[in-house]
Amino acid sequence: MKFKVDQELCIGCGACEGTCPEVFELDDDKSQVKLNPVPEEFQEGALEAEENCPVQAISHE
Ligand code: SF4
Repeated sequence: MKFKVDQELCIGCGACEGTCPEVFELDDDKSQVKLNPVPEEFQEGALEAEENCPVQAISHE
C-alpha cells in the first residue's frame, strides 16, 4: 500500500504524524511519507491518519 500527501492541501497540522509517526513526518510544515510502500504493520495507523486528516490531503493506492 502506497500513501501520498497532497502538498497543496496539507496545512501542516501534525495530526498524521501524531497518529502514525512511523509513516508520516512533518518537514518544512508539510507532511511527508517517509516509508513507501508502507509496511503491513503500519498500514492500519496510516489509514487512521488518512481518515483523520482535516483536509483530506492523504490518499493511498
Ligand atoms: S493530518 Fe493532513 S493536514 Fe495535517 S499534517 Fe497530516 S497531511 Fe497535513
